[in-house]
This record gives sequence, structure tokens and C-alpha cells, in this order.
Amino acid sequence: MGKKKNHHPSIMDSISTMKPKKNIALIAHDHRKLDLLDWAEFNREILSEHNLFGTGTTGSMAAERLDLPVYTFKSGPLGGDLQIGSAIIDNEIDIMIFFTDPLMAQPHDVDVKALMRISVVYNIPLACNRSSADFIISSPLMEKSYDRFIVDYSQRFKKEL
Ligand code: PGA
Repeated sequence: MGKKKNHHPSIMDSISTMKPKKNIALIAHDHRKLDLLDWAEFNREILSEHNLFGTGTTGSMAAERLDLPVYTFKSGPLGGDLQIGSAIIDNEIDIMIFFTDPLMAQPHDVDVKALMRISVVYNIPLACNRSSADFIISSPLMEKSYDRFIVDYSQRFKKEL
């Protein structure tokens, strides 16, 4: 009596398969945009093999610099981060490169936090600085299918009877 049942935690976990052609989101806070654009230009050849997405300003700057199509959501402070978060939930974004500004508070900080959190929930690769982005872009998994494991966190909300 009162003994906790041991639910098998992985019973409802799921897999989402990323295709070899990935959907990559590019986002940068204002003081980090030039660094992201420089990184993107350096990696243009690899990026051109994938589908690119971005928040309003970052996305249009990237499209111009790379001369590649970039699907742009709204600007970050106007809800673009939340739109990308929603796309992650719908399995429409596979990888996020988000150069954040570590020295400046953002008016949409809560949206940034929500986006970061949801990328953890859905287990997508996330780079917030250039070296992490380098490791992601140079991974052999970039050109392969990859089974992304998604933890079923709803198990945590089940009350023990
Ligand atoms: P922006 O948004 O690309 O529209 O500037 C980025 C952000 O601050 O989230």
C-alpha cells in the first residue's frame, strides 16, 4: 500500500525522423547578426543543400548575403521566435542556429526562453554560439537521416494512485 508503481518511462517516447535535407532556422540578436551572417557565408555550400528559415530581420539579411531562399517568419520581438517554436512543435524545424546576445536584455526575453525550452523538449540540435554551430554543421549526420528521440514528458504528469 502506498508503494509507488514503476512506470516504464520510455513506453510512450517517440521518434521523429529528420531527412537528409534538414530544415534549419537561423536567428541572431542584433549585436550577433554580423557574426551569424559571417558564419552562414562561410558555410554557404552546406547550407545551400538544406531548407533555410529565419526570423524576419535575420532571415532577410541571410537571404541577401547568401543569395539563397530563406523562409522568413515575423521579426523576433514581434512573435517570430514563437512562430519558430510552434514550427518546432510541428516537426517543421530540425536544427536551430540562434546566436544570442549574452550582454543585453531583450524586450522579448520570455519568447526567447520559450523557444529555447521548446527546442529542449523536442530535442533538436541548438547552437547559441559559433563553435557549437561549427560542430553541428560539420557533423556527418547533416547529410543523413537521423532518428530524433522525443521523450514523452506527459508521463511525469501522471499522478500515482
Ligand atoms: P530578428 O529577430 O531576426 O527579426 O531581428 C531575432 C530575435 O531577436 O529574436
